[in-house]
Amino acid sequence: MIFVQIMHDSTRPYRGRFAPSPTGLLHFGSLVAAVASYLEARWNRGRWLVRMEDLDRPREARGASKAILKMLEAYGFEWDGKVVFQSRRDAAYGAALERLEHGHAVFPCACTRREISDSTVSAAGESIYPGTCRKGPPPGRTARAMRVRVDNAVIAFEDLLQGRMEQNLAREVGDFIVRRADGLFAYQLAVVVDDFEQNITDVVRGADLLASTARQILLQRLLGHPTPRYMHLPVAVNQAGEKLSKQTRAAPLTVTEAPSRLWQALRFLGQEPPAEVEAGRIAEIWNWALANWRTDRIPTRRSIREGDAG
Ligand code: GLU
Repeated sequence: MIFVQIMHDSTRPYRGRFAPSPTGLLHFGSLVAAVASYLEARWNRGRWLVRMEDLDRPREARGASKAILKMLEAYGFEWDGKVVFQSRRDAAYGAALERLEHGHAVFPCACTRREISDSTVSAAGESIYPGTCRKGPPPGRTARAMRVRVDNAVIAFEDLLQGRMEQNLAREVGDFIVRRADGLFAYQLAVVVDDFEQNITDVVRGADLLASTARQILLQRLLGHPTPRYMHLPVAVNQAGEKLSKQTRAAPLTVTEAPSRLWQALRFLGQEPPAEVEAGRIAEIWNWALANWRTDRIPTRRSIREGDAG
């Protein structure tokens, strides 16, 4: 087994980010991630960037990118620098993929989703790649996807909220896709390339992405990038225990509800905002939040029901 040693560079100035996918409009769950990453960045006197993860063109909802940015503005978020759009960054992802190819870290794969879904399933319900094309695709098959060889890497990291996390990539994930058969780069690769190029030191996001973190750390190591610190927040779930998302029909945020939704997000994050603050204006709520933000109050659970206080 190879235990990957993580290198943080604590001399770099704090840079955080919020990275929504425009597959739908912002909902309460996305607001929680935006609020926590924003307050962490400001509390640490750092920068806060917004990156539009519009990589998956077929899943993009028309006009969602614009609507998301407008909503962030209406909620009083102020980001640093220009918004980066993943849809314009194919050249950077292609260059990273080439480096992985030079290092023999990736291989072409001809398997269909169906073939893989017949293989072992991980505890999280994902199919684990059985290694079919590792030594080259079967005769007569065309390989269009690219996968990273995970070998026997066990990745361990210290999450600022969830504590020590460990994942055996071979057993729990298998060789994973970095470029899909349809030619699109995979989220795992794009996020690693962008976090590096944007000099992100701290990733604050929902705990649903804990399952991706080990893959991202492996890619960082293969590309020679430093690993950011990670803080995985409790995810907002509905009454049925499902993560709020477009698929579970989470209500989109609205401008008129901005003060109360922002107040609720703070409450969800364990911040105990006083009741009178809820009736205030957005700027007043932010003033309260910036003066009173406490990371140690954020609940360490993986999920909390929307409307419940953390
Ligand atoms: N775009 C991802 C999402 O909306 C977030 C990625 C990340 O924060 O690393 O779920």
